Amino acid sequence: MTTRRILITGGAGFLGSHLCERLVDAGHDVICLDNFFTSQKTNVAHLLSRPNFELIRHDVTREIWLEVDQIYNMACPASPIHYQYNPIKTTKVSVLGAINVLGMAKRCNARVLQASTSEVYGDPDIHPQPESYHGNVSCIGPRACYDEGKRVAETLFFDYHRQNGVDIRVVRIFNTYGPRMHPFDGRVVTNFIVQAIQGQDITIYGDGSQTRSFCYVDDLVNGIIAMMDNEQGFIGPVNLGNPGEFTIKQLAEMVIAMTGSTSRITYLPLPKDDPTQRRPDNTLAKEKLGWAPAIKLEEGLAKTIAYFKSIDLSEYRKPTDFDYATSNRER
Ligand code: NAD
Ligand code: UDP
Repeated sequence: MTTRRILITGGAGFLGSHLCERLVDAGHDVICLDNFFTSQKTNVAHLLSRPNFELIRHDVTREIWLEVDQIYNMACPASPIHYQYNPIKTTKVSVLGAINVLGMAKRCNARVLQASTSEVYGDPDIHPQPESYHGNVSCIGPRACYDEGKRVAETLFFDYHRQNGVDIRVVRIFNTYGPRMHPFDGRVVTNFIVQAIQGQDITIYGDGSQTRSFCYVDDLVNGIIAMMDNEQGFIGPVNLGNPGEFTIKQLAEMVIAMTGSTSRITYLPLPKDDPTQRRPDNTLAKEKLGWAPAIKLEEGLAKTIAYFKSIDLSEYRKPTDFDYATSNRER
């Protein structure tokens, strides 16, 4: 195996920390860069004593001079309550962050992978979503800072590739869950499990008929690494997600049943621009990467529930005070 120098921006986050672990275990020299906005050092504390792991506190909107062979650009708040807290900063993270990692890749002749998102499809009117679909995104709504930021980042990746020959990879990640999600990130899997464990009401936004497709983190990490390491010249964009599609109400019922909780379901208003349906068309990932997810929702939820039961919630700082219940912004 070739030992590579690998930079992971947002490496202390949920997905980033799993990537760090996998790449450190594979023997690579891993640099984890993070400003800890939506994560804590505890996510990578178990790697700090490893000689091939290095942690840098840095904001990806500022340039940094490093010598690397590969870059996974994961830095960006991903939960709606996190990215809507300071939406101007969110757009800067996607755009300036992309420019900085692309500049570094150009200078070092490194390969660079962008963690894009199913949000580039917005509230889709084609179902399931193939990569060829151009999306239905509001450029002025409360989710636009994230959706449009990620769309511009993809544009920058493809322009650096065409104009400067930078070796790029773009993955569009669909809702992914698992251990090390921040317990107060407000995302649906986290909220429902934490509420169920604590016997609080399960908060369904809207009537719960909106759908999402949930991918377990181990499957996703396999797909991301397969994309980075593919040598067939396939640069994407490629969808990575689990095609199993569930309504939010079904998810709530599964979590209540699996935790044996006495929690009841309560219904709150649906946030503005909340997509009504989402499911990846995985044909391209299968064809080009031989990748398909293997872990069913029940199996992944069981592991995630066990994780949230094992942690002490008092050790986690809420990244922001912003949430839908207390915000006076338009929902
Ligand atoms: P996360 O919030 O756990 O991780 C993001 C990490 O980026 C955090 O550690 C955060 O502190 C860091 N970060 C934020 N702003 C930064 C900045 N300015 N400089 C440096 N670091 C910064 O979220 P995640 O779920 O692990 O998402 C990781 C990436 O994958 C994001 O780019 C996200 O958009 C993308 N993604 C995730 C999902 C998902 O379902 N988990 C879906 C689609 C796309
Ligand atoms: N959701 C919900 N209750 C919650 C959190 C989220 O009903 O406590 C809904 C949300 O409105 C959306 C879906 O669950 O329809 C997924 O939300 P999440 O924030 O996890 O991610 P999104 O896919 O919307 O970016």
